[in-house]
Amino acid sequence: MNESGSPAPESRSAAVVVPRTVRPLGRVYIIPERCKECKYCWTFCPPGILELSDEINTAGYHHPRVKKGRENDCVNCQMCTRICPEFAIFALQAGVAP
Ligand code: SF4
Ligand code: SF4
Repeated sequence: MNESGSPAPESRSAAVVVPRTVRPLGRVYIIPERCKECKYCWTFCPPGILELSDEINTAGYHHPRVKKGRENDCVNCQMCTRICPEFAIFALQAGVAP
């Protein structure tokens, strides 16, 4: 810290610089048997890549799936991972978008 309370130049230079043109690419993993069809994941996924599947699990619930053609649009924001009350969906970093 300097006298004005700002970080010293050397600590600022330690920050990771990410080019603005790069966006994270995530991969979504779904565990259908845990899903209770609460709709949170596809309602709140920021880029809207999730939707209701035609399939049902053994409890009779439709689980989410990634929309066709949107497989490379997950930005790994972790919203679905955090919002699912059943731990039925999660995303992992899969590099950066092409
Ligand atoms: S990590 Fe974010 S962008 Fe990817 S599926 Fe989940 S909510 Fe959507
Ligand atoms: S948030 Fe979880 S329980 Fe709710 S619909 Fe999505 S996967 Fe199913």
